[in-house]
Amino acid sequence: MTDNRIRNIVIVGGGTAGWMAAATLSRILGPDYARITLIESDEIGIIGVGEATIPQMATFNRMLGIDENEFVRATKGSFKLGIQFVDWGRRGHSYFHPFGKYGVDMQGVSFHAYFLRLHQLGEAPDIDQWSLQAKAGQMDKFMRPVDAGRSPLSDIAYAFHFDAGLYARFLRGYAEARGVTRREGKVVDVTLRGEDGFVQSVTMEDGTTIEGDLFVDCSGFRGLIIEQALDAGFTDWSKYLPCDRAIAVPCESVPEWTPYTRSTAHKAGWQWRIPLQHRTGNGHVFCSEYMSDDEATAILLANLDGKPVADPRTVRFRTGHRNKFWVKNCVALGLAGGFIEPLESTAIWLIQSGLSRFLTMFPDKQFNQADIDRYNRIMATDYEEIRDFIVLHYHATERDDSPFWDYCRNMEIPERLAEKMRVFRSHGRCFRENEELFNDTSWFAVMHGQLMTPQGFDPVAEVMTLDETRARLAHIREAIANSAEYMPNHRDFIQENCAA
Ligand code: FAD
Repeated sequence: MTDNRIRNIVIVGGGTAGWMAAATLSRILGPDYARITLIESDEIGIIGVGEATIPQMATFNRMLGIDENEFVRATKGSFKLGIQFVDWGRRGHSYFHPFGKYGVDMQGVSFHAYFLRLHQLGEAPDIDQWSLQAKAGQMDKFMRPVDAGRSPLSDIAYAFHFDAGLYARFLRGYAEARGVTRREGKVVDVTLRGEDGFVQSVTMEDGTTIEGDLFVDCSGFRGLIIEQALDAGFTDWSKYLPCDRAIAVPCESVPEWTPYTRSTAHKAGWQWRIPLQHRTGNGHVFCSEYMSDDEATAILLANLDGKPVADPRTVRFRTGHRNKFWVKNCVALGLAGGFIEPLESTAIWLIQSGLSRFLTMFPDKQFNQADIDRYNRIMATDYEEIRDFIVLHYHATERDDSPFWDYCRNMEIPERLAEKMRVFRSHGRCFRENEELFNDTSWFAVMHGQLMTPQGFDPVAEVMTLDETRARLAHIREAIANSAEYMPNHRDFIQENCAA
């Protein structure tokens, strides 16, 4: 019988995507299944941004068997309970998109329905009071969930901020300890097999060729194999998400390490703020059609917590994804596969989901086309669903103070999103469709936060009397306030458990 097993895996790229792939494959396949080689070039370097995550990152760490405190220490990281959006719905207004859920669903009816009923009576102005993550975030509090019965403290959802360079180094240590071989140097050529166009080998600058059965393209935006050699093509979404540049600059940190990412909307884009233990990461994402690099840099530098600790750096990008993420014997992950701007910190999750979906379809040397097609279809759906959620932030706004916001408010949007907005506008209902990443809480947080006003509330909320609704919501609000009060300060928690 022919041996069809993949014996030789070559990963090109040693950024977050490359090392996540190396760590995962070495962990899942074990030391004897296949040889794993990772090629990276110190001269080219990594993108070095990508420092905010979503709660699924904790699952990734658990899958690798990584100790969370060790990970936070090694990456000089901090914890994240959600994102604060400033000046998005209108200038001077802000809201919090928390992880986890608001309140509790009751009698089979979503919490949002009860909230909206009171909100529309003017009795519940602030949804944050029903989210422990939002409440604790605003008080700079953090702890991990504990076993506390029905208390909100049992159910704290969180993610991480970390230093991207340190994260790649951390995963490199992990992967090398599990047998992954790192090759330093530049890939200058890709050789395709004559008979079927599969990738046979890559050639390094020093002339060495490295052959493989399976190639994982993690080479960043350039898509060295997937695009330059295999012509996967690109689905361009810049009409929905017109921002195409970012200026990034770290600055000195401030004493309070806020347990959330902040996103502040500006004239032609937005600025991120990510607190780490040793510095604060900042960047201004903007649309070059409406703003020059100089103006974007000036706005960024005028809005930092402290002194910059490096020179501002420009990153250019295009929003969209490869028409095919997996072509023949090459699968692309990370920026090589596609890019959606970091407004909801989804890119690292897309690497994670790409890897886990790939492992469920792991090929043999025959590379069954049906498996490849399925993978490509599912990944495209992941990207589209996230795209729609990001577009919502730009489109559902009252901002009319610049041509950029006029464009975003009036632009054509994908029909799937348009339908979600119509459904929300009638009775404030939100749904998680199929397996989409963002759940109903996230959709509600952003639609409500962006100042969309439903005409009414879900009529089913009237299964409960108004008095009982008031009493139950008051009870939940109190439990959340008490829990937030009980939690330690975020910085203190880090100092005690995982200080770098
Ligand atoms: P890179 O980091 O670019 O790595 C590419 C690797 O390929 C490098 O090691 C390079 O040396 C190697 N390479 C390239 N060409 C060659 C060659 N010819 N020979 C040898 N090696 C080569 N994601 C989030 O989840 N959260 C965020 O907050 C977030 N913020 C972001 C902000 C911005 C402005 C941008 C642009 C992205 C952000 N992302 C974020 C996305 C995140 O940065 C990336 O998904 C993540 O870093 C993965 O990058 P990568 O490994 O695909 O690419």
